[in-house]
Amino acid sequence: MHCVILRDDDTNGLTPVDCLERLYRPFLDRNLPVNLAVIPHVRTDVTMPDGQPEGFLAGNRGNRPPALTVGSNRELVDYLRANRGFNLAQHGYHHDYFEFDRSDRAEIGRRLDQGARLLSEAGFPAPQTFVAPYDRLSRVSLQEVARRFAVLSTGWFELRRLPLSWWPRYALKKMLKRPHWRIGRTLLLTHPGCLLSCDRPYRTMLAEIKAAVEARPLTVLVTHWWEYFRNQRPDPAFVNVLHQTADYLAQQPGLKVISFDDLLKDNLALI
Ligand SMILES: [Zn+2]
Repeated sequence: MHCVILRDDDTNGLTPVDCLERLYRPFLDRNLPVNLAVIPHVRTDVTMPDGQPEGFLAGNRGNRPPALTVGSNRELVDYLRANRGFNLAQHGYHHDYFEFDRSDRAEIGRRLDQGARLLSEAGFPAPQTFVAPYDRLSRVSLQEVARRFAVLSTGWFELRRLPLSWWPRYALKKMLKRPHWRIGRTLLLTHPGCLLSCDRPYRTMLAEIKAAVEARPLTVLVTHWWEYFRNQRPDPAFVNVLHQTADYLAQQPGLKVISFDDLLKDNLALI
C-alpha cells in the first residue's frame, strides 16, 4: 500500500475561493483529502529577495492593512468549513521571508501560539500540523514546533540545524534511509521537492509524481495554489496536470490519499 498526502501551501486571507474550488473540486468530489497549509496572519507587503511581491498576495488590491487574518475573509472561512475534504495545517504566522529561521525563542513561541489561536478563532480545529514558510526552520524553531505540534512537514532535515538531542535518531533515520522519522510524539515528514510546480516541465510532471509515489510508502506532494493563477489568469495546462494527478490518485490500485490528521489516527505504521 502506498499513501499520499497532498499539501497546498499559502492559503491566506487574500486567497479567492474560486481558485481553490477550480483546483480541488475533482479531489473533493472523489473524497481525496486536500491539506491546506494556511497562513494565519499574512503580511500584505511580503516580498521576495528580488523585491517582487510574493505570489500568494495576488488577490491584494488597493489599501490593505499591513497584515490580514484568515478569519477576516468570511467567504473563505465558510467555504473551507463547508467542504470537509479540506484539512488545515498552520503555515507560519506572518509568512515573512524565512520567518522561522530565527533564534529568538520567545518570538518563535509567540508566532506559533498566536497563529494557532487565530485559526481556532476563525472556527477551525486546532492545527496539529505545522509547515514553515520556505520549509526553513532554525534549531530553536524545530524545538518549539515539536513541543506544540504532532506533525512537522518540511522539505528535508540538516544535521547542523537539529537540536543535539535529536542527533542519534537522525543518524538512525539516515542509516535506514527513511524519509520520515519522529522525535517524542512529533512526526517529522520530508517531501521529494515541489513536484507540482509551474517551474517544472508539465509534460513529465505526472510521470515524476508516479515515480515518487511508488518509491516510498508515504509521499507528501507539495504544490502552491497561486502558481496556477499567475498574472491573474488561470494556467489551464498546469491545472490539467493537477486534475490528471487527481485521476491517477483516485484510480491507482493499492494507493490511498490521506490527510495529515488521518496519519495520526491510524497510519502511524507508515513512518
Ligand atoms: Zn509558503
